[in-house]
Amino acid sequence: MRKNRVSKKYIVVVVFMLGMLKVSAQSKMEYLNSIKKIDVHTHVRSDQPFLRELLDELNYKFCTLSTIGTNSKTLLAQIDTAKMVYEKYPRYYAWVTTFDVSNRDEPGWTDQVINQLKNDFENGAVGVKVWKAIGMEFKKPNGEYLQLDDPIFEPIFTFIAQQGKTLIAHMGEPIQAWMPTYFTEGGKPRNYWAKHPEFSFWDKPEKPSYSDIMAARDHVIERHPNLRFVGAHLASLEFDVDEIITRMEQYPNFAVEIGGRTRYLMWQARGKVLDFFTRYQDRIMYGTDKGAKPKMTPEDIENAKEEIIYRNQLFHTYYATADEIPWGNIVESDRPLPEPSYNVKGLDLPREILDKVFYKNAVKWFPGIEKEYQ
Ligand SMILES: [Zn+2]
Repeated sequence: MRKNRVSKKYIVVVVFMLGMLKVSAQSKMEYLNSIKKIDVHTHVRSDQPFLRELLDELNYKFCTLSTIGTNSKTLLAQIDTAKMVYEKYPRYYAWVTTFDVSNRDEPGWTDQVINQLKNDFENGAVGVKVWKAIGMEFKKPNGEYLQLDDPIFEPIFTFIAQQGKTLIAHMGEPIQAWMPTYFTEGGKPRNYWAKHPEFSFWDKPEKPSYSDIMAARDHVIERHPNLRFVGAHLASLEFDVDEIITRMEQYPNFAVEIGGRTRYLMWQARGKVLDFFTRYQDRIMYGTDKGAKPKMTPEDIENAKEEIIYRNQLFHTYYATADEIPWGNIVESDRPLPEPSYNVKGLDLPREILDKVFYKNAVKWFPGIEKEYQ
């Protein structure tokens, strides 16, 4: 009888403690939702009132990245739009420029790029982005693929460092791009590389290897210790945080942004990822790779809104709480699939780390990004 009462009491205490845990988890989620946040990896290709409303609602500022293309016309349009939205709405947008590589063989190319970057920095650009076409698409006159450590880029990187600006690099692809593409039994493409065979390197021995591209990128980080170097999309090392840690240890000027790769973190052992965030809490930034398309129909707007709210809430839950999140399949998308499905537990990061990952590190690695949003 007596024993029974004790265990009842015990149960009450445990239930109460669990309730407290839930309250503290909720309040941390609320905390993250309420603080000022910067998403360092977005693509804002047009000025959309819905987006500004959403940024107010969710407490975000977007840093829009211009992306190098193989087509210099769309590249200039991206830079113009990024500059325009920043000039009109510095509370909502910061911007990162890029430069044309397709015309690299024209005389005076280096000076032209440096002059353009100088002008863009004067117009508020907080950094420069380089994209995966370097390493994977552009070729040198001798037929080899042009890599990021090619001497033609050296004076440009030196200039960026001298100006105290940041280089953000999306080099290569996730390692799965070098693995067989993934189709359903019915032959439906399941992963990005099945849908984009131009970026699938499986069984293409003439193409550069994953490690060649990673090594070329690492040479640049090493050669320019005064250059702040941010690896976009977890530096394309998203499959294993240990790979990122190796570079973090070697290069103090290296940081990463998540760039829509949260699901790869969810995929890895929770304790390992938690340790990564604890040890390198000053060098990880939040990014989603979302934004606004150049032209948007009312339907596009509804979809974009839904997408931005859905993903941020999902990722906030993962980073700020210890909730179980139903998860799907690494190769498909951020949305859970019916099969195969499993649960992951959120990282439950302390508030100080959330402050850094969602805001302070962006300010540290991209000085000026916080303009009108302090
Ligand atoms: Zn992107």
